[in-house]
Amino acid sequence: MKSYQGKGVYGAIAIGKISLFKKPETAVKRVRVDDTDGEKSRFEQAKAESLSQLQEIYDKALKEVGEANAAIFEIHQMMLDDEDYNDSINNIIETQSVNAEYAVAVTADNFAEMFSSMDDAYMKARAADVRDISNRIIGNLTGEISNGNFSDEKVIICASDLAPSETVSLDKDRVLAFVTAHGSSNSHTAILARNMNIPAIIGAGDDFLNDIKDGCKAIVDGFTGEIFVEPDDVICKKYLEKQQADEEKKRLLQELKGKENITLDGRKINIYANIGSVGDIGKVLANDAGGIGLFRSEFLYLENSDFPTEEQQFTAYKKVLESMAGKKVIIRTLDIGADKRCDYFNLKKEENPALGYRAIRICLTRPDIFRTQLRALYRASVYGSLGIMFPMITSVSEVEKILGICNAVKAELKAEGIEYSEKTELGIMIETPAAAVISDKLAPMVDFFSVGTNDLTQYTLACDRQNPDIEQFVDVHHEAVLRLIEISAENAHKHGAWIGICGELGADTELTERFLRMGIDELSVSPSFVLKIRDAVRNIDLSK
Ligand code: PEP
Ligand code: MG
Repeated sequence: MKSYQGKGVYGAIAIGKISLFKKPETAVKRVRVDDTDGEKSRFEQAKAESLSQLQEIYDKALKEVGEANAAIFEIHQMMLDDEDYNDSINNIIETQSVNAEYAVAVTADNFAEMFSSMDDAYMKARAADVRDISNRIIGNLTGEISNGNFSDEKVIICASDLAPSETVSLDKDRVLAFVTAHGSSNSHTAILARNMNIPAIIGAGDDFLNDIKDGCKAIVDGFTGEIFVEPDDVICKKYLEKQQADEEKKRLLQELKGKENITLDGRKINIYANIGSVGDIGKVLANDAGGIGLFRSEFLYLENSDFPTEEQQFTAYKKVLESMAGKKVIIRTLDIGADKRCDYFNLKKEENPALGYRAIRICLTRPDIFRTQLRALYRASVYGSLGIMFPMITSVSEVEKILGICNAVKAELKAEGIEYSEKTELGIMIETPAAAVISDKLAPMVDFFSVGTNDLTQYTLACDRQNPDIEQFVDVHHEAVLRLIEISAENAHKHGAWIGICGELGADTELTERFLRMGIDELSVSPSFVLKIRDAVRNIDLSK
């Protein structure tokens, strides 16, 4: 048995087998071959496998996310059969006497370059698709197909690190736990693990990764950050007991379902849930959240290989609103950039992406993208109680521009005879120190504030949330951050706005009382933390 120490980012125990997450091969080697016909049939075989995998993905997507969202996998199948694409691969194999992997990689590069150089935005975006299908063929040729293509058994996914887009593409029904050798606890991958309710550890180190093999037995303790590989019987017994005790505790919390979020002295608060996709609604309802306080809509973009259309977005937002049956649903406009990268946005590489071209900055400079999302949101607004929230605000003029665009979108819909709800609330995230400091100016402009403590902490303490090496300098209870929240709460209330917290700090029960004393009206947390926070609130007495 060997043990390793990382940092737990979601407290729960998993016992099972390890599956190493394989990234798609990026550097394909050029190998000379004599049997070019043999190589061509290897390609044909890999293509057939890819086609049938894409058909399976299409069928799954059709059931889970609907026809509009599934359509891309049909397009991928068509691209695989494209005559020019196939001719290019076969010609390269034939004329250069090279391996199929190399011919596919070169063709992918050539086609992607050709698409990228086109003026039409739709054709430009096809570059990412051609790379995607080519990676799949190469994966099938080398036997290294990635994205959670593991056996039916639930497994512990181990990786060097996982990008948010890789995490969302995993088959969640087959993941027992995550362990990454690197990564930081405030990264979106960690947040996703929390949303998925699965034990997760980051920063387990390179030794861990070098020592493990596919199929090893392991225990993951998401509370303490410990991992045991090939555990002995004593450890197995201890952890089975710990797992049962944890499950019992979670079962007891279930008894709080249907109860109010009320302190001992009668102060009520809203406890909402954070989600990343329509598929998370089941967990929101199962944990009895009073609403959705943050729908990170950018995951709709990350899951897609091209800009989601107005129709695709409308369908997703409508579904969330309808499923919540009149309860508040706050959808944040896209927060792409920094660690959330999407190929088809063609974002430039930046020195400091967290301080760069992201979120509202993209929306205000690429109004076509912003307006499409706002149209979809306003169209969906008639199906429930919608709040639209804007991320990364730093100034009054940004909010003025946003409100101007919202009014223009509403006028456009009206002129087209399309209904929207006038009751739609508009809010901004307080996640930069600038926004907190000028919250007296911002509050009169909006209906609500929602504090993004993840970014507010990174910008206030000047500590990159993606950098695991500086975690020791991140005091998550730093007085500066708490004071900025307090100032924002005072200013919100002075101007008739309500204020919530949707960053990870909202789930920190050590701060629940302080937040209530500040007058915070709503806490929005991962669905699995809703009942824990309800329990904390019900044990607080603010009269003392
Ligand atoms: C935050 O910054 O606290 C937040 C909720 O947004 P995200 O974590 O998606 O950046
Ligand atoms: Mg943020």
